[in-house]
Amino acid sequence: MPLAKLFDYSVPAGMEARVGDRVVVPFGARQRLGVVIESGVTSELPAARVKPIVALRDDAPRLPADWLELMRFLSGYYQRPLGETVISALPPRLRSVKPLPRKALQSASAPWSARFVPNHLLNAAQARALDRMASTAGSFGAFLLHGVTGSGKTEVYLNLIARVLARGGQALVMVPEISLTPQLEAIFRRAFPETRLALLHSGLEDIARTASWLDAARGDAGIALGTRLAVLAPLPKLALVVVDEEHDSSFKQQEGLRYSARDVAVYRAKLAGCPAILGTATPSLETWHNWQSGRYERLELPERAVPGARLPAVRTIDLRHASLQQGLAAPLLAAMEARLKNSEQSLVFINRRGYAPVLACEACGWTAGCARCTARMVVHAVGRVLRCHHCGAESAIPRACPTCGNVDLKPMGRGTQRVEETLAAAFPGARIVRIDRDSARRRAELSHALEGIQRGEADILVGTQLLAKGHDFPGLTLVGVLNADAALVSTDYRAAERLFAVLAQVAGRAGRREQQGEVLVQTRYPGHPLFAALARHDFSGFAESQLAERKSAGFPPFVFEAALRAEAKKLDTAMGFLREAAARARPPAEVRVFDPVPHLITRRAGLERAQLLMQSPSRPALQEFLGLLTTRLFELTPRHVHWHLDVDPIEFD
Ligand code: ADP
Ligand code: ZN
Ligand code: ZN
Repeated sequence: MPLAKLFDYSVPAGMEARVGDRVVVPFGARQRLGVVIESGVTSELPAARVKPIVALRDDAPRLPADWLELMRFLSGYYQRPLGETVISALPPRLRSVKPLPRKALQSASAPWSARFVPNHLLNAAQARALDRMASTAGSFGAFLLHGVTGSGKTEVYLNLIARVLARGGQALVMVPEISLTPQLEAIFRRAFPETRLALLHSGLEDIARTASWLDAARGDAGIALGTRLAVLAPLPKLALVVVDEEHDSSFKQQEGLRYSARDVAVYRAKLAGCPAILGTATPSLETWHNWQSGRYERLELPERAVPGARLPAVRTIDLRHASLQQGLAAPLLAAMEARLKNSEQSLVFINRRGYAPVLACEACGWTAGCARCTARMVVHAVGRVLRCHHCGAESAIPRACPTCGNVDLKPMGRGTQRVEETLAAAFPGARIVRIDRDSARRRAELSHALEGIQRGEADILVGTQLLAKGHDFPGLTLVGVLNADAALVSTDYRAAERLFAVLAQVAGRAGRREQQGEVLVQTRYPGHPLFAALARHDFSGFAESQLAERKSAGFPPFVFEAALRAEAKKLDTAMGFLREAAARARPPAEVRVFDPVPHLITRRAGLERAQLLMQSPSRPALQEFLGLLTTRLFELTPRHVHWHLDVDPIEFD
């Protein structure tokens, strides 16, 4: 296994180091933390070159065999060295040579109780889904829990978890964003007041994260709740895996080990011999295809769970004929006015933060660009700065055009801040709350703002995706959608799938109680079939048409893909490396290797980027090929180039 890159050490007399133990070893001039992967073998190196282990770190439980097996699978599938895979899967504290601080080590004294406090009596559809999934407990099965927004998927998860806990098993529950977990955490704590809950996400302090991880790894925590990285925690009693909002792209890690936590979750369930539940209102087309080809079973929750709550009415506003006030169409403003009079909430969704995406000089055509990226700087009203959303670079807003000296520079287009400004002018006195990555820098602030909205302390919400997912705002009855059109004309074949999902999500915030909600989408393409499907709440119809297009064009899920990417100071260097790689690739007949191309956003943070796409209708054929290719790439050791492989890539810009 060339990718393994294992290092040999001897075990000093009196030390007992077994497979899965964390050890401190000499590495070059320094010491590093390592994990014992094999033991009792004789090294091929001359004895004098094999150094002894310095110390054993037995302050955390030994890494279990099935976890190491998972690591081997990940290393092989995603083509990363095993050592790197194992170390990066540990929480930061456990990667360090230092012993763990006491605080992290307290183990739960009493075994947890499985007492369950249900929120609701399940309705018929929920009960049917629950019974079906519970009937396979103790063996692997992959289920798509396809429930419209507000159909009560959470309640189904909670009931399943209760059954698993009662038998002494652990449940792994993954959600897309950290910002979602405050509300969800409360729901879980209320439902299982006596069960230890391990929270696992990158927003936690190091010690807290380590402590949670240890709770999970020792089997002390009945429930592990977290983001994608939760899928890498050892769970000795794993008996249920839940991935909520499985379509969400945040389940794909975009650096280091580029794993899909959703796919890994299903694989883990297979290893553990337990059910995997993928819940969503808008399944990813991969998951949909897996259902259609018989690998997953689909269970439907076709209606909202709150008695009397209906799905919202979705309509388009034709931008070609509407009168606009700063980008907001008259019918949308009128609908908002009516909500204000009724003391109901409205939400304006725009998928772009900042004040305006472009700062331009109308005299000479100059636009403010980022010096380090092939991208424009975004105007931010707060702090009056230009900021690059790709590398984070910031600069002051220039007083005059650097090319022609014109002092009348204009922000073009709009983002959340500008919409907020427009709405404040249109509805003086209305309480407006903006929620995006800038307003919600800190978790605490965000959850505070969300709670306020829930209590009805806001009239109008303006926000990005961050407002779309999972939240339950009882007073919200109107959703307005701005600039949905960009995705309709995108060259990315996944753009339509993502647009449908985000619109269904954001629409799903409206009318979650008795009052039916309304969704108004501003568009220049009111006749687009995507909007018609959205209005009918017809995900199946939309998925079928998308899949037919994908099939005829030869795109995933009908083929499997991997991207080899290179970054260098000069584009030629990156392209040269990829050409060399392509020349050495020698793919078998079932694998197609495309020509290298620069990324759409060619330069990012000062580096030029290019990629090489590989495709195959056969996953095993692609896997075998990638294994050989990576071995050859490691031999190439190119200078001045960073490269990585992205298996099952989902972003290409
Ligand atoms: P989803 O995750 O499917 O969008 P949620 O799980 O958030 O939906 O549930 C939506 C709302 O329905 C919540 O307020 C929840 O408390 C409520 N709910 C869930 N199940 C039931 C039920 N059986 N009867 C009444 N209300 C329910
Ligand atoms: Zn100019
Ligand atoms: Zn930049």
